[in-house]
Amino acid sequence: MTTCLFCKIVNKQLPSEIVYDADELMVFKDIRPSAPIHLLIVPKMEQRHIDSVNDLEPEDEKMITAMFLAAKKAAKDFGLDETGYKLVFNVGRGGGQLIDHLHLHLLGGWKAGEKRGMP
Ligand code: 5GP
Ligand code: ZN
Repeated sequence: MTTCLFCKIVNKQLPSEIVYDADELMVFKDIRPSAPIHLLIVPKMEQRHIDSVNDLEPEDEKMITAMFLAAKKAAKDFGLDETGYKLVFNVGRGGGQLIDHLHLHLLGGWKAGEKRGMP
């Protein structure tokens, strides 16, 4: 039984506000948003647990591509493709990472001139 919070969310053992649920990943809303729109792109880890970008291997190429394409699709569906957005990977405690399960932040929806927060 995993103790990882994001494993529990993508396995639906814990609830989340799901945006997309695909075979290889899930997109859901961040519980403490740092932007008007703050989504998390979170791969499902069936082979091995990837804690962060530090642990990526060449064999993870397909998964990484799927994460970026999901981010692109979510940005378009939330109307951010025209206004712009940020994509962020926090790596390690010094990089602000709190959950050791690889994830990509999608942030956007700020008004012109509004302060842009970072997760
Ligand atoms: P990190 O700091 O590890 O890059 O990002 C973790 C993110 O997960 C944070 O932005 C935090 O707000 C979010 N988060 C933490 N716990 C939960 C939760 O239980 N549900 C959801 N939807 N997001 C969470
Ligand atoms: Zn996990």
